[in-house]
Amino acid sequence: MRTFYKDTLSTCHRCGRDIKGIFWQSLEGIHLETTCPIHGIDLELVETDVAFFRKGYEYEGYSPMRYLILPVTYRCNLSCKYCYAHSNYTHPLPADRSIARLVEIVAAADCPTVNLAGGEPTVRDDLPELLVALKTRTSVKRLCVVTNGQNTIDEHYLNTLHDSGMDFLFLPLYIPGYASTGTVIGKVITSLDNAYRLRIPVWVQAAVECVGQIAPVLEIVDKYHKIIFSITIRSVRPYGRTEPGGMVHVSEIIRHLGLEHSYDLGNHPFNRRVKLLGRTTKVSSWVNDRQKLDPYDATYVMHDDTILPFHKGMLLEDIYFKGQKWDC
Ligand code: SF4
Repeated sequence: MRTFYKDTLSTCHRCGRDIKGIFWQSLEGIHLETTCPIHGIDLELVETDVAFFRKGYEYEGYSPMRYLILPVTYRCNLSCKYCYAHSNYTHPLPADRSIARLVEIVAAADCPTVNLAGGEPTVRDDLPELLVALKTRTSVKRLCVVTNGQNTIDEHYLNTLHDSGMDFLFLPLYIPGYASTGTVIGKVITSLDNAYRLRIPVWVQAAVECVGQIAPVLEIVDKYHKIIFSITIRSVRPYGRTEPGGMVHVSEIIRHLGLEHSYDLGNHPFNRRVKLLGRTTKVSSWVNDRQKLDPYDATYVMHDDTILPFHKGMLLEDIYFKGQKWDC
């Protein structure tokens, strides 16, 4: 049996329409039910621990985030199975992503921290020039490059990014679909080695399908803890190109880590903050609750230059790129 918990404004993860959502409570946990006029009813189990979910959902003291996610290209040199961005290397950009235009966007957004994302930012030959332009022609304080670590195996190149104004790197330590002993993750580790030698701060992320994927990530964090200042463990959700091999919820990750009595609320209702190996760690999940996320999530610059809440924007980009008919 299920009982009504809350109404909200949600988003169809197949077409991106804003639609009505209802949270239901049952013995299984909290479910989000949405009804899209085109794609029908969707019911997702968003958390297995009802009290854990409600504690975050009913808290009202969150502060809006002050950082901007700026996709600087939609091309990539990988093709990950849960990717939200189109990742074919040869496609043209769907909007003006010239340095001049990106400077205008960042100057207008007036956020102290800007994450240059993609696609893969390092496939742009002019990334160093872009970093210099953003640092010298806008009021941005911190610039991050969100990379998959494949091109930063070149230490000289990484040093050039740093010298051009990149303050820190964002690197994935676990990407579903790539073996931890394979070439892709091997290059991520080489990039970490380079960052270590160059003393470049790194924020790492692991997108996990089950709790067993966390321990190998923490071994890497332990080894490179001097340069890793922040960790994100994100549960994979069923919105990418393929269905996840498994799904785990935030409360299950926290319990697995033995931190069920020592976590704090995160930056919005679907995250929690813990300490792992002395580092601030965000354990997060994406829940398609537009109403709750709107004021609190980071902001995301869309392909047409509009700005939306972070994960609403990433979801819409995914839908947009999957729907394109590219001629190559
Ligand atoms: S998830 Fe990131 S690294 Fe993987 S294909 Fe997409 S843009 Fe590239």
